[in-house]
Amino acid sequence: MAEKRDYYEVLGIAKGASEDEIKKAYRSLAKKYHPDINKSPDAEAKFKEINEAYEVLSDPQKRQTYDQFGFAGMDGAANGFGGFGGFSSGGFEDLNDIFSSFMGGMGGFGSSRSSRRNNGPIRGDDRYYRMNVSFMDACFGKTETINLSVDEQCPDCKGTGAATPGDIDTCSTCHGSGTVITQQRTAFGVFQTQGVCPDCRGSGKKIKKVCPHCSGQGYINKRVSVDVKIPAGISTGQQLRVSGKGERGSNGGPNGDLFIEINVLPHDKFERSGKDIMLDIPVSAVDATIGTTVDIPTIHGDVSMKIPAGTQDGAKLRLRGKGVVDLRGGKQGDQICTVRVKVDTKLSAREKELYKELQKLQKNSGKESIWDKFKNQFS
Ligand SMILES: [Zn+2]
Ligand SMILES: [Zn+2]
Repeated sequence: MAEKRDYYEVLGIAKGASEDEIKKAYRSLAKKYHPDINKSPDAEAKFKEINEAYEVLSDPQKRQTYDQFGFAGMDGAANGFGGFGGFSSGGFEDLNDIFSSFMGGMGGFGSSRSSRRNNGPIRGDDRYYRMNVSFMDACFGKTETINLSVDEQCPDCKGTGAATPGDIDTCSTCHGSGTVITQQRTAFGVFQTQGVCPDCRGSGKKIKKVCPHCSGQGYINKRVSVDVKIPAGISTGQQLRVSGKGERGSNGGPNGDLFIEINVLPHDKFERSGKDIMLDIPVSAVDATIGTTVDIPTIHGDVSMKIPAGTQDGAKLRLRGKGVVDLRGGKQGDQICTVRVKVDTKLSAREKELYKELQKLQKNSGKESIWDKFKNQFS
């Protein structure tokens, strides 16, 4: 920390100065170095220094401690003072954000920061919207039209709410700052609370003649249809942004954005795994044994697929490129078919006969059967 100047020196007063003299010195210096008025680079630091000095010297108890112990006495006093840290510079700005409406002694500076914030253009909040999308629409994309109620800036007054630019006056109550400060004297000193100006409701402006188009509101509520382009390959949880369709901004600030969160509805047969489509397919024991060719349903329509001889239950057969488009422009996904070997329970007499013959044949072939292989593991 830079070397501190004596508080009396900062305010340019004598050690024995009266309360009134302190107040007077503070007021004139605060006005001179207020960062809103004084644009020199060290004005802010000066302003802080002045406030710090005033905070101590305006409080008889703290002033006495300071007179006795100097700055060494002050640090302790500051800590014991509820931790506002008004003059320990370190956490000053952060504290100001937290206690923006409750600032001991630092009112002038803090409120100027906040009022600038209240007064300038503020972007509106974002809005969120959840949209259900069918499985197939998520795979192939679609343009969905949604109807919304949106506040749009009035085109006649450009959001000012005034009939003409000449009808805009500075609010005389807050002098354009949009905020008013009230002082409260308590046992701990003077506290300042800051609130929104009741006359202009924070805009800092007074409109003499309101815009007839929007009745002075500055915006017009509209029902609008928005075409939302749902890209092919979108998944649940992904968001689409529609710019400018959120909540309205204030003081000429732009609207926020509209975020549409996608919820892809399930399909009763297909399942998505990223850009791949998963499908369970039943294959008879005979087909799984000697192989066949079948028409497999895919999201792109039926596709002929070979089931090779000796396909086991649980085998995964891949149909390349029959999945979903890659959102980021990569390779299209595949369809992965999981084989479920099914056993026929309703056999004709002839079928039964053939199976029996097959069973006999296998028994007498002398070749190790599936069962033998299993049993031999136990011996
Ligand atoms: Zn208007
Ligand atoms: Zn006002």
